[in-house]
Amino acid sequence: MGSNSASEPLIHLLLVSFPGQGHVNPLLRLGKRLASKGLLVTFSAPEFIGKDMRKANNISDEPTPVGNGIIRFEFFGDGLADDDPIHYDLDTYLPILELVGKEKILSMIKKQAEKGIPVSCLINNPFIPWVSDVAESVGIPSAMLWVQSCACFTIYYHYYHNITPFPSENEPEIDVHLPCMPLLKYDEVPSFLYPTTPYPFLRRAIVGQYKNLSKPFCVLMDTFQELEQEIIDYMSNICPIKTIGPLFKDPKTSVANVRGDFIAADNCLDWLDSKPPSSVVYISFGSVVKLKQEQIDEMAYGILNSKVPFLWVMKPPPEELGLPGVYLPEKFLEKAGDRGKIVQWSPQVQVLNHPSVACFVSHCGWNSTMEALTSGVPVVAFPQWGDQVTDAKFLVDVFEVGIRMCRGEAENRIIPREDVEKCLREATSGPTAEEMKNNARKWKKAAEAAVGPGGSSDKNMQDFVDEIVRIGSRPQNNNL
Ligand code: UDP
Repeated sequence: MGSNSASEPLIHLLLVSFPGQGHVNPLLRLGKRLASKGLLVTFSAPEFIGKDMRKANNISDEPTPVGNGIIRFEFFGDGLADDDPIHYDLDTYLPILELVGKEKILSMIKKQAEKGIPVSCLINNPFIPWVSDVAESVGIPSAMLWVQSCACFTIYYHYYHNITPFPSENEPEIDVHLPCMPLLKYDEVPSFLYPTTPYPFLRRAIVGQYKNLSKPFCVLMDTFQELEQEIIDYMSNICPIKTIGPLFKDPKTSVANVRGDFIAADNCLDWLDSKPPSSVVYISFGSVVKLKQEQIDEMAYGILNSKVPFLWVMKPPPEELGLPGVYLPEKFLEKAGDRGKIVQWSPQVQVLNHPSVACFVSHCGWNSTMEALTSGVPVVAFPQWGDQVTDAKFLVDVFEVGIRMCRGEAENRIIPREDVEKCLREATSGPTAEEMKNNARKWKKAAEAAVGPGGSSDKNMQDFVDEIVRIGSRPQNNNL
């Protein structure tokens, strides 16, 4: 294992992921892309999600060939039981993960070197910046995959370095002015930066990445030049950015059994086949957002009253948290009949690329945002927190493919059924729907060009691979 047809050993990369669905998906997509270019990729993450990923996707213990290279998985124990609820209390869990993870990753690197397949580069995603410390301690270069927009990267950068005034306890509602960006109202900057955020530990986690930003030799981003042109040009003067997205758009590497879902996707494609073109509203709030029961009720009645066909992902909360589930109003399914389908988890990328889908009611996580935008699907924005509120702003006002259903959790408002119904009608028929669809089609084409041969993301990816090959071909000069 680990060699190509000419028996040259493959250059080996170790990818370390934070255990969140929105982190695993883009890093695994990157891993497959790098493998397809002739590298050996080991994908690592804590075992408690490894267990779920193996089960949901039939991941094999054997290395899997992808294009000219190989991908394989090696999960590590974090010292907690797999069902320990601490995994969902990030304030407590992140320091544990750092302490244990540093040791585990280091010993993994040593083991690989002993086996004759030394690691040439480490790549991590946000919330685990200590991976670049591990790399530095053994003299191996590291890169980071940023999994949000370049706009959000820029906003956090200005916040961390205190370059621009942000909402504060004294001035909680000031607008934020940043270079190359539209003016952001106080509730359009990532909500973890609000002085009143209930999640200050997430602010610490995300901003913590900037303390280590001088260590990665490259910051890869799942966005593309043409989408965020000015912001990317601006930040590239400050930081070694390479845009390589959208990472999900790569049919060549869509190896069926190398997926990162934490729960198996329900089949809903047959049901979509039975619906007319551009008729179905797809509704999903990602892997973490949990709406209040009252909001679910209003959403459900709004959907029913709008009379549009719908596919709604209702992901149950993790069992170990012992939280109450969310329920549909009485007789909802009966009233919806074949007009609606509820699933626990969907194959989202395939759903968004299905011709029957008209629009996406989304929480606007960056992965969902990119997947919708570059599949040509307009969005009804229902952001809750974090970068979702900023992504919603960009979808609506900058990319012009969305309408807003709400402004975020900080608004502390239940969106009534009348608003839900109005937004769904507006997004599925009439001039606004038409205009958004046309704009979304343009972004889809632009994204295809970016990842296609010679496109901006394709070139950046190749430059990165060339750099890795250069690094990997040098005589090993590390401290192992
Ligand atoms: N996803 C999916 N099936 C679903 C819901 C979501 O495959 O039913 C995927 C989606 O395609 C995306 C990821 O889960 O890649 C969610 O990431 P995002 O950044 O949108 O939101 P998060 O879950 O991090 O809040």
